[in-house]
Amino acid sequence: MQQAISILGSTGSIGRQSLDVIAACGIRAAALTARRDVTELEAQCRRFSPALAVLTEEKAAADLRIRLADTSIRVAGGQEGLLEAAVLPEADTVVTAVVGIAGLRPTLAAIQTGKRIGLANKETLVCAGELVMAEAQRCGAEIVPVDSEHSAIFQCLQGCQDRGEVKRLILTASGGPFWGKSQAELEHVTLADALKHPNWSMGAKITIDSATMMNKGLEFIEAMRLYHMPPEKIAVLIHRESIIHSLVEYSDHAVLAQLGAPDMRVPIEYAFTWPGRGPAVAPPLDLAQIGTLTFALPDDGRFPCLPLAIQAAKRGGTATAVLNGANEAAVERFLQGEIGFLEIPRLVEKAMARIPVQHSPTLEDIFAADEAARACVNGLVLA
Ligand code: NAD
Ligand code: MG
Repeated sequence: MQQAISILGSTGSIGRQSLDVIAACGIRAAALTARRDVTELEAQCRRFSPALAVLTEEKAAADLRIRLADTSIRVAGGQEGLLEAAVLPEADTVVTAVVGIAGLRPTLAAIQTGKRIGLANKETLVCAGELVMAEAQRCGAEIVPVDSEHSAIFQCLQGCQDRGEVKRLILTASGGPFWGKSQAELEHVTLADALKHPNWSMGAKITIDSATMMNKGLEFIEAMRLYHMPPEKIAVLIHRESIIHSLVEYSDHAVLAQLGAPDMRVPIEYAFTWPGRGPAVAPPLDLAQIGTLTFALPDDGRFPCLPLAIQAAKRGGTATAVLNGANEAAVERFLQGEIGFLEIPRLVEKAMARIPVQHSPTLEDIFAADEAARACVNGLVLA
């Protein structure tokens, strides 16, 4: 079991659930960070007494510094503060729970100190997965996925000595709030409808990604990078109940699955306790009460974000950073009420068509591709 944990994005959905887990397991908090939520971060600091608290918005950090003046907690601000939290020597594990490509630099910094990464921030692997995994290997940093599907696969791979024996990774997908809706109905869905996920309570960006199925596309790429699998060996299966979190099919057609109540505290806890297991934080699974589990194939026609992501994965290079940057910009516009739901895949597709792919990119090439994709989407929205 790990002893002290830093949480990047501690006021968010994954961040707060990570704090539940460390409280239940008796693990200390080393650093806690957020963007601007002073009140929530102050409350967390008073409860968990980290060595360092960071708000990336400088004004908010100045406010927090005043509020915590009666404690010994150090307060920092800005991107430098976030990077400092990522490498704080007191922590042996860092949970990356910020949203989007903003997680890339701090995740790399934490990896370079050889810490275990509890990886929630999937966008990091989508944009720069090959670089990040190579750096983790070089620095001896363990990357343990927090994303429930990837944690399920990680659990189903325990004891597998030879990855050549894996025939397929099968990612399950709830289908989100709009599964089964017609194209005409999808034209008119609202932001409020999109924010209502049937099974999970999550941050706004990933909730919209779940509604478009881009979340499964990002997870497809995340699985390729984490497990060094080609796209042909990854499949997606709609499973509305979110009880089977994912499956691994082996060469002999044995299929292993990991099941549990839809509660992120299970994969979060496993990222801390692996290769062991800790106490129960999430409720038990009652299969007799659930009764039936259902499965279907994805609907690529009505949810084009998943095939777009697979296309980007096959192109490789900066294509996945373009996909991600375009999606981040489009989702932001949708959250601001500036575009309709179906504009999200249309904008991503246009950005992918317009921005040339660069192969074997450096980190700076990846950031440039991200910028180009955002500029393209923002330009198209304003046009
Ligand atoms: P959230 O919006 O609830 O929380 C995000 C946290 O990061 C907050 O503390 C916020 O202050 C901070 N933050 C956001 N943007 C930032 C920035 N630019 N710089 C610094 N700090 C920033 O998000 P969430 O739902 O907890 O998701 C976090 C990450 O975990 C995402 O990458 C998401 O895809 C992934 N994830 C989430 C879930 C889930 O159940 N919520 C499941 C799997 C994976
Ligand atoms: Mg997931």
